Amino acid sequence: MFLYADHALLDGGFAPRVRIAISDGNIAGVTEDAAPQPGDEHVPGLLLPGMPDLHSHAFQRAFAGLSEFDGGGGDFWSWRDCMYRTAARITPETCAAITAWLGKELLKGGYTSLAEFHYLHHRPDGTHYEPSTTMARAIAGGAGQAGIALTLLVGIYEAGGFDGAPLIGGQNRFCNKAADGVAMAGALRADGFSTGLALHSLRAVPPASLRQAVAAFAGAGPIHVHVAEQRAEVEASIAALGAPPVAWLLDNADIDASWCLVHATHATDPEIAAAARTGAVIGLCPTTEADLGDGIFDLPSLLAASGHFGIGSDSNVALDAFAELRLLEYSQRLRREKRNISAAGDGHTGRALWQAACRGGARACGRAAGRIAAGLCADLVVIEPTPESEGRSPDFSLDAAIFADPRSAARHVMAGGVWLVRDGVHRNEVAIDAAYRRALRTIST
Ligand SMILES: [Zn+2]
Repeated sequence: MFLYADHALLDGGFAPRVRIAISDGNIAGVTEDAAPQPGDEHVPGLLLPGMPDLHSHAFQRAFAGLSEFDGGGGDFWSWRDCMYRTAARITPETCAAITAWLGKELLKGGYTSLAEFHYLHHRPDGTHYEPSTTMARAIAGGAGQAGIALTLLVGIYEAGGFDGAPLIGGQNRFCNKAADGVAMAGALRADGFSTGLALHSLRAVPPASLRQAVAAFAGAGPIHVHVAEQRAEVEASIAALGAPPVAWLLDNADIDASWCLVHATHATDPEIAAAARTGAVIGLCPTTEADLGDGIFDLPSLLAASGHFGIGSDSNVALDAFAELRLLEYSQRLRREKRNISAAGDGHTGRALWQAACRGGARACGRAAGRIAAGLCADLVVIEPTPESEGRSPDFSLDAAIFADPRSAARHVMAGGVWLVRDGVHRNEVAIDAAYRRALRTIST
């Protein structure tokens, strides 16, 4: 299969007349300034690498928009109580339906792969399904229906706080010891799934367990951890461990390029610079972080340190990669009272955001993707120029897709060499929608 793109975003920027060979789901070759050949599929508009979604909890979509009232949680911690109530009602069947719908909508929003930070492992009373990977396999089944590439990050969750408090109520479903989590990831990997490790947080994974899990898993895939999302968590970490979460991890775990530090909202400049030197990816989830009143990550500090970042849909209230990048940039502008911050004084903001988030996201997903280059997965998104950017250089069209259109800009989307979205419609739209609505009716009792 050959694609012929009028313009494609390659490593050095937009290139005209690009011919792309695709074989077995991968990009087999890229030729710039090429002539079209008979049989080539013409791609009008602009071809971009697909965006990885590096952080999601699929089941949380089931209460999207349902916590925006007095009883819906006045801060992160009371919002978490709402989330626990939803988590208690999820079954493997409903989780599969939710994930299928989520994957479909993420594809329509320009995402082509998904790292699911999975901690909803067990039955509501904490007993294990048979096998214990049943829920993980349900998530994989849902992602497969949508066609979105999945990295299953298997959660470790042992304690209810830095003091080692026992898990209570809704947390019992999440309980997963270090050895169990590593074994589950190994079983899933043996069955062909792409896996990683999800250390829930320093408050839920005691230091000894964290070291045990990392030592047993290291080298087998990406390792993700929630860090410094809330000021109260940072203060508790200092009280219990003698350091804020990011600094503690840097001193006590072998952080390297396989790690993804999710949120890092309240990381300090020195922590950000030190994290950047490790090659770890900072996982930013601007919409969820805004929704939960987390705060604003200091992106300019990370860029100044040549650090890596990607974006995640997290609680899944927003499912559009273009909108997520817009909020990321806008939150920095509001804080700094300046414009075009992510471009860091060099080129177009849209391209800087898209390329950086694609590369960081692919690394965090453990997927050979994130660029249009030979040997990488054929994960591709097509956008069309807005009327305002028509006739200008392609960089203006990508800027406009992010900053000038409130609706999704993704027109056609391919993941793993398969066109899944055409003209904004997913190929399995109707059946997935129907199953999702049925699932929601069983959850909202
Ligand atoms: Zn999360």
